[in-house]
Amino acid sequence: MIWVSNRFMPREKGLKEAMLYEKAAKPPGAVKCSLCAHYCTIPKEKLGFCSVRCNKGGKLYSLSYGKQTGLEMDPVEKKPFFHFKPGTQCLSFGTPGCNLRCLGCLNWFLSQSPREAKNAMDAFDFEETPPKRIAELAVKYKADGVAYTYSEPTIFFEYARDTILATRKIAPEKYHVFVTNGYFSNECFQTIRKEKLLDALRIDLKFFNDKKYRKFTGASLEPVLESIKRVHASPMHLEVICLVIPTLSDDAGEIREMCKWLAGVDREIPLHFLRFFPYYKAADLPATPEETLLKAKAIAEEEGLNYVYVGNTGIPGAENTYCPKCKALLVERYGMSVLRNSFQLTGKPECPSCGRKINIVI
Ligand code: SF4
Repeated sequence: MIWVSNRFMPREKGLKEAMLYEKAAKPPGAVKCSLCAHYCTIPKEKLGFCSVRCNKGGKLYSLSYGKQTGLEMDPVEKKPFFHFKPGTQCLSFGTPGCNLRCLGCLNWFLSQSPREAKNAMDAFDFEETPPKRIAELAVKYKADGVAYTYSEPTIFFEYARDTILATRKIAPEKYHVFVTNGYFSNECFQTIRKEKLLDALRIDLKFFNDKKYRKFTGASLEPVLESIKRVHASPMHLEVICLVIPTLSDDAGEIREMCKWLAGVDREIPLHFLRFFPYYKAADLPATPEETLLKAKAIAEEEGLNYVYVGNTGIPGAENTYCPKCKALLVERYGMSVLRNSFQLTGKPECPSCGRKINIVI
């Protein structure tokens, strides 16, 4: 498939040559990008589906390199990661652009800005922050790690990779996590694995229905499922979220199928159901009722998943971690705060009451 956008005229200066692409068989001068599962063939002087990578003279360039926005310190629980380094703080940033176009995107002003702009380059017309600078800030502000988040880290992969390498040079103890839609390619994943770039990934499973994926995100289901399986089979930590959107992704049967599939991969994978609030092109839909989220949680537990959370609600106890065996309270949370963490006392990933092993990185 050839993805074409005419909405740009990139300046050559300041563009970073992309990783993971090759010359395409046709048309002449076209390149094929293998960074994400769209595998765009991009003719000369055109952009990929993400509006972030452009073919300039037969070479592929990233427009988002160095273009961080929203740099701030967040609790890791905000991502959300509940089973990875609870109570720690991560320096977080994203860049404009995304390889999906979700109707209800919370960060649409960032993720969709190259598409929404008259000229995609306008979305990147601000000062650059070099990877080394981010590494220095992570040290200066005593971050426990760095989170590549807010938009899709896959499409700023070169920038994220250089930031990880720069941080490793001066602070190798810091962790690195991707908050991702999971639509990265196997080539991208293998690079992450081979270079040991990441410690954890939180993947967004939006629907368990390929038609809906195509209609409401512009992507497809299978590559996301493949990503979940690949990350699970790797040494990296994995958590999955599902944003429950009224009328789009709140069907109990579909939620059950999704949970059954995830439990088949591993019942120990933490699953977060998040409340939707009306945004962007789904602004006419209501916020998710709490009962719908609690029903989804009950379904997931019936299907055997051991750690199921409900987020964005304030429902008491919905964000706590309990031992699947003896039901002891292990981590007490409210919102993004950890109120009590029993693993801090023991230093071991097991239940202090009954000794059951818990899937948690302390
Ligand atoms: S990152 Fe994905 S959407 Fe963007 S050009 Fe490459 S294959 Fe296409």
